[in-house]
Order: sequence, then structure tokens, then C-alpha cells
Amino acid sequence: MTLQVAIIGAGPAGFYAAEALAKEDFVQVDLIDRLPTPHGLIRSGVAPDHQTTKKVTKKYDQTAARDNVRYVGNVALGDHISIPELRELYDAVIIAFGAEGDRPLGVPGEDKEGVYGSFAFVGWYNGHPDFTDLEPDLNIESAVVIGNGNVALDCARLLVRTQNEMKLSDIADQAGEAIYDSPVKDVYILGRRGPVQASFSIAEMREMGELEQGISVVHDDQIPDELPGDMDPKEARSRKPVLEVLKSFKGNRSGQADKTVHFEFYRRPVEILGGDKVEGIRVERTRLVDNRAIGTGEMIDIPCQLIIGCIGYVSREVEGLPMKGGIVDNVEGRVDDGLYCVGWAKRGPTGTIGTNRPDAQDVAARVLEDLGQGGGKSGGAGLDRLLAERNVRVTTYDDWNAIDAAEIARAKEGAPRRKFVTIPDMLAVVDEA
Ligand code: NAP
Repeated sequence: MTLQVAIIGAGPAGFYAAEALAKEDFVQVDLIDRLPTPHGLIRSGVAPDHQTTKKVTKKYDQTAARDNVRYVGNVALGDHISIPELRELYDAVIIAFGAEGDRPLGVPGEDKEGVYGSFAFVGWYNGHPDFTDLEPDLNIESAVVIGNGNVALDCARLLVRTQNEMKLSDIADQAGEAIYDSPVKDVYILGRRGPVQASFSIAEMREMGELEQGISVVHDDQIPDELPGDMDPKEARSRKPVLEVLKSFKGNRSGQADKTVHFEFYRRPVEILGGDKVEGIRVERTRLVDNRAIGTGEMIDIPCQLIIGCIGYVSREVEGLPMKGGIVDNVEGRVDDGLYCVGWAKRGPTGTIGTNRPDAQDVAARVLEDLGQGGGKSGGAGLDRLLAERNVRVTTYDDWNAIDAAEIARAKEGAPRRKFVTIPDMLAVVDEA
């Protein structure tokens, strides 16, 4: 018997689940993605100037090359196929579609022009077809990035990068042009808590001290000399080097470089100001009580023409899938009979790419434990029939390899690739191959 498995979403979590399951010869995996391009956040989330991180896709290529793994691209859950249909066709359906929505800021004015969530903004500079037309106006003086995680650092850094700094990157053409031409002078990174609570990683933090045309500044009195003595030792190990970098910014002053990145801690967003377009943000000064940010009542207005909320993601709602608190409702990856989830859809938007591997391995083990060697469902053959009836243009991993090769072939000197940023352009490459 064959255990027929559909994995929805070909990002890291999906590939790690496929890798774990495909080790068993009796398993047949269909890795289904709504884009012709696989790799999820490696392609559309990881910053374009972090190419080393993207090398992990070589591992995913090995998984895709297995006889019992098939990439089924350009097939959208909800549009082309539903959860109940997939459950009919496959013994196990594993949701691995991540978290494709921005958590709302929840303050008045967030619908104003010039306010974006990081999923959209990051998708735009990374050439995700959903956001090719976003066209944020970067003809601005000042931008605000909300949040103290790595996504906030990515967005702030990208806003002040030079063309020279990005020459080895795969930034989408239209984003690169807008960024290099942008006259933005000030980028504010707002944290509702303090420097010790920020979830920046050290590599990303160091980059903020090495900007070609930017200087990072802090309010010197916000940066303590030491971590609190009662901090958990494991946490302290990762926070200490970050604090050291922030300490090295003391004494830096705005205007010492063309562009200034301001780390503003203890600032809670209260209201987005302006008319139809954003003109500023009102923040409330906070203080920490039991590690939580409590408003002091003191308001500060920061003029800005662009706001990027980098405060986390939520998974999208799909008919037939129970949701709870922005993720798929699950117990250790189990959702219902034959229905599972992995990655950010399972546990929320946390951890590194590597975190998804053990997580997916655990869920894969549960699938095998629950379902044994399968129940004789039709799997891919049934899916192919249904998609053909619906005239869905399905793409394969070979098709992706053709797109990949074409992107590499047209790269500017030194750059790893020049991305196609619309689905029709990707499919045109496949047609020509
Ligand atoms: P994150 O690390 O969880 O940071 C989210 C930030 O948003 C926190 O500072 C949080 O503050 C703040 N926040 C949440 N709700 C808020 C609100 N209503 N108002 C103001 N601030 C609010 O998440 P992320 O930066 O989106 O990153 C997601 C995951 O991807 C993380 O695991 C991250 O490390 C990973 N990632 C890694 C890299 C890399 O390694 N290079 C790059 C990008 C992303 P509190 O702490 O006070 O809640």
C-alpha cells in the first residue's frame, strides 16, 4: 500500500515534512504550492542581501529530486482545490502554508496610504507576485518601522541600503530602483519595550553598525550597561551581544551620515496621523512593569510618510480548516483525522528556518504513527484528474528549474539572479523552455 500525502505550501516547513516522510519508500508526497516558484519565505521573506541563508534551498532540491516527491506548483488552495477535496484524495493532508497575513497594528489610522505590514513590504522588495504592484512611495524624508524583531531590522536596513551594498543581492528590480533613489533621511525603529527585551539577532544587529550611508543612533540613557542580573542565562547569552552593539551606538549622532536609523525604545504606537496619506505617528512613552510595556500617558509625535508594521504574522483563513489565535487549531500538529499542520501555521511566526526541521520531523512521525502504510487513496492521480477538469495550469519542479536558470542567466553582474515578479512572466519562461 502507498501512503498518499499532500503537503500544502513548499516553504521550509513543507520541505522538511516532505524530507522526513519521503525517507519511507511507501510514502508518496505531493508538495503543492500556489506559486510556480517553491521555497516560500526563503525566496520571498529572507532579505535579498542575505544570500548565504538562501543556500539552504540546495537541500530542498535534493528532497524534490526524490522519486516519491512531486512538486505541484501554481495550484492555489481555496481557488483550485479545497481542503475537503484534498482530504478525499490523500491519506494525510499537511498544512505548511505559513503565515501569509500581517497582524494588524490595532490603532486608528492604520488604513491610511503609506502604511504597510511587513508581509506586504518584504514581499514587494523580494519580488513576490502578490506585491509587485504595491509601489510604496519612497520619495519621502522619514519612515517608521514598528517592532523590535529581525523583520524590523530587515526593513529598516533595506530602506537605507545603497546600490553598491545590494549589488550581490536578488532584490526585485522595481524595489531596488525605488530604494536607491529614495531621499529618506530618517528611519525610526520603534520598540514598545526596551533594548534588553528586543528579539534582534546578533548578525542582523551588527549590520546596523556597518551601513555604508547610514548611522544608527540610540537615546544613550535608554541603553543599560548590563543585562538584568536575574535574566535567564540562556536568554542572556543571546541578548548580551545585541546589547553590546547597541552600546556601541551611544555617542552616535543624527547627521553624521546621509541617513540615520533611530532606535526608539519604550514607544507604543497609539495613532497614525494625517489625512488620506500618513503624515506621522503618535506614540506613547512606556515603562516596563513585570516585563510588560505600560503607557505613561506622555505622547510623542514622529513625522513620517511611510510606516511598516513588523509586529508578526497570522495564517490566513481557509474553508474547512479550524483556526485559533492566528494559527491552525492543533495539538502537536494534529488537526483532525488525516489533517495535520507544521511550521508557522502550527506554532505561529517564531524561530529560525532550522527550527522548522525538528518540528516537521515530529509531525511526520505522528502521521506515520497514526496512518501506518496508507489507506489506498488515489493521491496525485486523483488530484491531476481534478485539476485537469478545472483547466488548472500546473507547474513542476523541472518548470521551476527552468525559471531558476532563466533568472540566473539574466542576473546583473555579481547578482545571484534577477527575479521574475509576475506569474505570467514565470509561465512564459516555462513555455519557452
Ligand atoms: P518577532 O521577533 O516576534 O518580533 C515582533 C516584534 O513586534 C516584537 O518586538 C514585539 O514586541 C512587537 N510587537 C508585537 N505586537 C506589537 C504591537 N501591537 N505594537 C508594537 N509592537 C508590537 O517577529 P518578526 O520580527 O516578525 O520575525 C518573525 C520570525 O522570523 C522571528 O522568529 C524572527 O527571528 C524570524 N526572522 C529571522 C530573521 C533572521 O534570522 N535573519 C529575519 C527575519 C525574521 P514585544 O516583544 O513587546 O511583544
